[in-house]
Amino acid sequence: MNVNQLMADLERRHPGEKEYLQAVREVLMTVEETYNRHPEFEANKIAERIVEPDRIFTFKVVWVDDKGTPQVNTGYRIQFNNAIGPYKGGLRFHSSVNLSILKFLGFEQIFKNALTTLPMGGAKGGSDFNPKGKSDREIMRFCQAFMTELWRHIGPETDVPAGDIGVGGREIGFLYGMYRKLAQENTGVLTGKGMTYGGSLIRPEATGFGAVYFLRQMLERAGMQLKGQVIAISGFGNVAWGAATKATELGAKVVTISGPDGYIYDAEGLTPEKIAYMLELRASNNDVVEPFAEKFPGAKFIAGKKPWEVKVDIAMPCATQNELNGEDAKQLLANGVKIVAEVSNMGCTPEAIDAFIAAKIPYGPGKAVNAGGVATSGLEMSQNSMKMNWTAEEVDAKLHQIMSSIHHACLEYGTEGDYVNYMKGANIAGFMKVAKSMVEQGII
Ligand code: NDP
Repeated sequence: MNVNQLMADLERRHPGEKEYLQAVREVLMTVEETYNRHPEFEANKIAERIVEPDRIFTFKVVWVDDKGTPQVNTGYRIQFNNAIGPYKGGLRFHSSVNLSILKFLGFEQIFKNALTTLPMGGAKGGSDFNPKGKSDREIMRFCQAFMTELWRHIGPETDVPAGDIGVGGREIGFLYGMYRKLAQENTGVLTGKGMTYGGSLIRPEATGFGAVYFLRQMLERAGMQLKGQVIAISGFGNVAWGAATKATELGAKVVTISGPDGYIYDAEGLTPEKIAYMLELRASNNDVVEPFAEKFPGAKFIAGKKPWEVKVDIAMPCATQNELNGEDAKQLLANGVKIVAEVSNMGCTPEAIDAFIAAKIPYGPGKAVNAGGVATSGLEMSQNSMKMNWTAEEVDAKLHQIMSSIHHACLEYGTEGDYVNYMKGANIAGFMKVAKSMVEQGII
């Protein structure tokens, strides 16, 4: 494989899809050397085949708002690769959603799902629908309209969607209700379901909890422990909440959260009461974290800035892609950051990643750090197939085990002397599994 040549061809065929091209380049650059040691990969053109989605569905979503006015959005589902299991990946509802963002997320999902050790292929979907300021009824009508198109493409052994930005328990409920009605079956398609209709305990917390379990292993490997570390978290959504909850419970001090309006700096650190308020803030459907500082006077609101300017030991981006750039990385490094665990998908730009790796600061990429979310979705699928529910302890123990095995895979493929290049480790481990399975299954 010649990465530059392959990328030039991809850029020609998909001009302007910058997030997708960024994600593909990152993976191919890190696997190139290993790939070229396997002539069977090149003989089967695995790289050229793996970077293209199997298929993309684009559809119109028409729904009626509370004033009775019809509204039109675009819906997508990208079925990227199902070599190792049914397509699996979340749905994102956010005004910024476009084909390039969903293709990058679907591509990353292939390798993340492979890392979990569970049989799941990669997919992603969503819509440019903006849930901000919408009533519950509007959200319901949108979800139902979205599902009237999506349902024919998904199924328990075909494609199992889940949540992502803008899609939490409420949306999954509305989506699942419509799927069940149209498909006339109750097979658990969609994960992140409510506990009354097939959900799994620990699923809402899983991405953030799993991230902290992974972070703890990164710290141990580097001869440190989590207790007493000062952490900057960005975002104030589902993932930020889960990460803040577990990190605080294990004795770390989380001093920031953020929203599109700016960030909150709380020198005393978050408490369970403050973390619970994050949920309230998020549920208010407004785009702001500022009210946090009004509610807790010890906390300061810094308008229009990102939390990466604060002096911390650990940075955990938990909001969205490319939210930590080269300048932010420089600032964190100047302030003595010890570890970066990326929880959002592609949260760091390539310049930021290069800066961390050059400074030999352990950097855990999203596809490893946040894989606990999809892994627990996989566990939800298993429980649905068996028509059984595991206890919270059972699910949590399995989550622990999966995060350890991902960490182990990163060490196996990413150890470079004393330093662990987690990005390289995660990319190679995930890629190898999918590539081998594609070779074994022939050219299709
Ligand atoms: P939520 O919708 O609950 O929260 C997302 C957070 O990111 C919010 O604070 C949101 O603010 C902010 N955000 C979203 N888009 C932008 C943007 N373009 N610019 C600035 N801020 C933005 O989503 P999750 O917590 O579920 O997801 C957070 C990250 O974790 C994402 O990268 C997601 O892909 C990843 N992830 C999520 C998993 C899950 O299980 N939910 C699993 C694995 C990864 P606002 O909406 O107000 O703009």
